[in-house]
Amino acid sequence: MNVTALATSAPPRSPLADRLVDNLIHRIGKDERAALPHDWLAATILTVRDDIIDRWMASTRETHAAKSKRVYYLSLEFLIGRLLRDAIANLGKNREVSQALSQLGVDLAEIEEIEPDAALGNGGLGRLAACFMESLATLDLPAYGYGIRYMNGMFRQRIDDGWQVELPENWLAHGNPWEFERRESAYFVGFGGEVTGNDAGQVHWKPAEAVEAVAVDTPVVGWRGKRVNTLRLWTAVSLDPIKLDKFNAGDHEGALAGQVRAESLVRVLYPADSTASGQELRLRQEYFFSSASIQDIVRRHIQYFGDVRTLPDKAAIQLNDTHPAVSVAELMRLLIDHHDLAFDEAWEITKATFGYTNHTLLPEALESWPLPLFERLLPRHMQIVYAINARVLREARKADGIDDEAIGAISLIDEGGERRVRMANLAFAGSHSVNGVAALHTDLMKQTVFADLHKLYPARINNKTNGITPRRWLFECNPGLTHLIRDAIGEEFLDDAAALTALAPFAEDAAFRERFAEVKRANKVALAAHIKDRMGLRLDPDAIFDVQIKRIHEYKRQLLNIIETVALYDQIRSHPERNWTPRVKLFAGKAASSYHNAKLIIKLANDVARRVNGDPSIGKLLKVAFLPNYNVSLAERIVPAADLSEQISTAGMEASGTGNMKFALNGALTIGTLDGANVEIRDHVGDENIIIFGLTADEVAAKRADGYEPRAVIEGSRELAQAVNAIASGVFSPDDPNRYQGLMAGLYEHDWFMVAADFDAYAAAQRQVDARWADRDAWRASAIRNVAQVGWFSSDRTIGEYARDIWNVL
Ligand SMILES: *Cc1c(COP(=O)(O)O)cnc(C)c1O
Repeated sequence: MNVTALATSAPPRSPLADRLVDNLIHRIGKDERAALPHDWLAATILTVRDDIIDRWMASTRETHAAKSKRVYYLSLEFLIGRLLRDAIANLGKNREVSQALSQLGVDLAEIEEIEPDAALGNGGLGRLAACFMESLATLDLPAYGYGIRYMNGMFRQRIDDGWQVELPENWLAHGNPWEFERRESAYFVGFGGEVTGNDAGQVHWKPAEAVEAVAVDTPVVGWRGKRVNTLRLWTAVSLDPIKLDKFNAGDHEGALAGQVRAESLVRVLYPADSTASGQELRLRQEYFFSSASIQDIVRRHIQYFGDVRTLPDKAAIQLNDTHPAVSVAELMRLLIDHHDLAFDEAWEITKATFGYTNHTLLPEALESWPLPLFERLLPRHMQIVYAINARVLREARKADGIDDEAIGAISLIDEGGERRVRMANLAFAGSHSVNGVAALHTDLMKQTVFADLHKLYPARINNKTNGITPRRWLFECNPGLTHLIRDAIGEEFLDDAAALTALAPFAEDAAFRERFAEVKRANKVALAAHIKDRMGLRLDPDAIFDVQIKRIHEYKRQLLNIIETVALYDQIRSHPERNWTPRVKLFAGKAASSYHNAKLIIKLANDVARRVNGDPSIGKLLKVAFLPNYNVSLAERIVPAADLSEQISTAGMEASGTGNMKFALNGALTIGTLDGANVEIRDHVGDENIIIFGLTADEVAAKRADGYEPRAVIEGSRELAQAVNAIASGVFSPDDPNRYQGLMAGLYEHDWFMVAADFDAYAAAQRQVDARWADRDAWRASAIRNVAQVGWFSSDRTIGEYARDIWNVL
């Protein structure tokens, strides 16, 4: 090799490239020639992290100096996904980092691709927590996320012969260069044992077992690197013998009988969505992370402000669903037992500190614990729950218009059958704010699950419609569209998503529409290449990309979509002469491992896909694909390529949805029911730019009350009956003709989710989609108007509302 020529032709290395190499050598222990892509990834993360740490410390110093109030977001799930691209983009270092790496012969996009997804959540609730963390930093609000550092996050989904197979996701296999373990921030968390009182009225809880919670911190960078906040995830370690001695000799009185198997507390995320797991280990996880977080919050408050009674002035704690609701009892315990406050004062402080966000009205998803289990595991908390309940029920007795039945619904203890502790009622009672996550959902909360609590505390329920961060869900996942928008309307939307409305007039601009269509097509080509590569399926980028990606659940009605797909397949075969619109039906999503029907729906999607894709008479007119292992990174690939967003839940059952917002922001039209945030999306984009169909929430409720008869509905719709009977009789499962008999019988017999009731309206709406697609100009104009009008769904707006109305930090 000609060394001189090489030296003169190679560009000089930037200081950043030098730092990358330095980190590779000194922190990874590899030289440039031996470095594998994973080594480069780690070196890049460490280099970017160094810049973050300086800002992180500056943010902490500022908060301290200003004596600011802090926001604490407690969530059992944080579905954060990959962090490198997000951090680089928010620091504004995209070009700098990619150039430095390319000087070293490394492709940034390639190493970004091998970063594992941090999948510490199931779905929307966990992703919301991640978007909120990013918006909190962006709005320059001092905030901490608190959760669990699961060793295995959400399972990895493989599709074997069409069936879902769950594999453990070992996201920490290569270590995690983002995190910092804080051995000094560690707390005892006790379980079980006994409670004793002394003559002075002081109460002592002597847990039988204990474990140590150790903080592991990950920095969260806000847009333009404004602020760096902390995501503090707890890991569990067994008490070492020295600490055990100290614990037993300390003010806890009485020795610990044993230790919790520490690792079991943080090993798995419960892979259930929209159902409560009801396992003892789950309650242990909830208490473990709640206790550690509340102890940490109180410790920090005392350290900075000296007096626990000022806690509500300096700390706002938000409970993301009821999973951390035991925190209410834990704060009461610390205030009463450790800080000697009287019950009444402790109760006022607690209510002023907590806010509770409800995420579901589904009765099967409302957490409650058998009273004997709760009492055995948390005997002191059980006493406190009783005391809170006595207080709440006294208030209820005094209030007007609350009868015995209402008292029963308000009680923190469910007395019907086996007695249970209702976590939603505990969270409601212990918070000054209880919010729903979309306008419709908040209304339904007032009318259904919390009707009586709402009567008792009418000022408490409020709405905070969910949002998504436009950094990850537009700028990072769709750079083509971002550039196009910037060329059209300038840069303001980069800092204020509401400024996207300036794009609306461009819907009328033919040249802009053309460029918009080119960006969408390029995204579709890229997704098609990915699918060809992974699944061997060839897709036509000029077909409508019709997408339903989300957790698989009967209320989300993937089944409605699949049955309509079967009906369409029939129609195309029967009338090949018609001018059919080529469609690609894309599905992705995970089913809880114990959810039989959801897993069967995945198999059905795959059975239909195999049959349709292999039918030469259909050609390019219809293709169906189920993409395995839905996660944040896959969503980031699919969303920018979608033309049609399927948001077709049974009205009244989807609290908000956030997938719907991601798609609209990326220029897909929504086909959907008037459910969750779809209602507000329609209000923003206008009736002409969304396809709404089906029963409303009120109509669903009325139909259920009046005795709905799905059999008559099915028999009255030729298309539906043919599709259902084809599936039931094994047309798509010749290897096991009875496979779907039970699933289809469920539609005939009860059809709780109103698939049959909504089918004809849905099919008609899909034909309306075809008609609109035929007028390509009108379609594109509608898509542009969607992008322009959904800036309101930025999580910056949502967090601004929480900050102003609930946390009082603006
Ligand atoms: C946004 C998102 C969700 C929520 O989707 P919905 O359609 O609102 O249920 C779930 N999972 C992932 C990975 C997401 O990015």
